[in-house]
Amino acid sequence: MNNWIISGASVLGGEPADIFVRDGVIADSAPDSAQRLDATGLIALPGLVDLHTHLREPGREDAETVETGSRAAALGGYTAVCAMANTDPVADTAGVVEQVWRLGKDAGLVDVQPIGAVTVGLAGERLAELGAMATSAARVRVFSDDGHCVHDPVLMRRALEYVKAFDGVIAQHAEEPRLTVGAQMNEGDTSARLGLAGWPAVAEEAIIARDVLLAGHVNSRLHICHVSTAGSVELIRWAKSKGWRVTAEVTPHHLLLTDDLVEGYDPVFR
Ligand SMILES: [Zn+2]
Repeated sequence: MNNWIISGASVLGGEPADIFVRDGVIADSAPDSAQRLDATGLIALPGLVDLHTHLREPGREDAETVETGSRAAALGGYTAVCAMANTDPVADTAGVVEQVWRLGKDAGLVDVQPIGAVTVGLAGERLAELGAMATSAARVRVFSDDGHCVHDPVLMRRALEYVKAFDGVIAQHAEEPRLTVGAQMNEGDTSARLGLAGWPAVAEEAIIARDVLLAGHVNSRLHICHVSTAGSVELIRWAKSKGWRVTAEVTPHHLLLTDDLVEGYDPVFR
């Protein structure tokens, strides 16, 4: 049942064509005794990779597990997901990242690549065992305290320097914590009108400015999580123009929604 003729899909958005699958592998001619799948009107793409998922296991299996997250990913066309480290216990040791990696293997639907914490317990005070996670069975290459910012510049520098040994990446949740104490929504006209405490764009941009400079200074790889301001994009563009190894991601809600939607005080839109 692993022979298929998928007909009518637009390959990479181009002309519709037939795709042949023999024994589960794409082939250049029609296989014998194939099942036919009509994909007219659909677009065929390579497997997608999600750099930023929260599979919540271990610790919050009531919300999500590696298996349920894997199922959702596979259904959405993803073949690989990176699982953030803010689990309970935190994925800050070789033991925890190997557990997540094994659960992904057992689910067997997509590649589950654990992300390791940068600091012990996401507390921002001392570096986690980055090397032990990198050499574990999970072969961790991306490290992040996502949910928390690595706000100490010395720790951030050390982390960036440390991961160079195995070509790793530090993924930063860019939020200057002193500028967002008590913040409820984006700072601007709307927050002022509603009387809600504002989260200024500069809280994100100040950390990105600092960290692209650090990454350039020590020639290491930096990734910025969930970029949400135009100023951040300008800073990242500037860093790239310098040849510094900086990448970034954006979320659907930051592209599609604005703070005007908070007008009705519906907390969903914060
Ligand atoms: Zn985050």
